[in-house]
Amino acid sequence: MWIQGYRKYFHVFWIPFFPLWKKIYSVCSHCKGVFDKKEFKDQELTNSFEYFENNKIKIPWYHFTGIILVLSMITLIFTLSFFTK
Ligand SMILES: [Zn+2]
Repeated sequence: MWIQGYRKYFHVFWIPFFPLWKKIYSVCSHCKGVFDKKEFKDQELTNSFEYFENNKIKIPWYHFTGIILVLSMITLIFTLSFFTK
């Protein structure tokens, strides 16, 4: 049994803009079944599951690619219009 998680992100044309919610689930290493916390009967599993839920999992920087792109575009446009006056 291991615990996995993924994070949804908002994207425009496949460019990620900002992260949304995360989903934690566990996968059985034997039957590849996917289980939710509610289905656990084992306290140790529930504990490690809650550890994942309560601890911030690092958000990869590329989830902000869209915001970085837009901000640098705005900066570029402002800089250009300032110098062409
Ligand atoms: Zn199983």
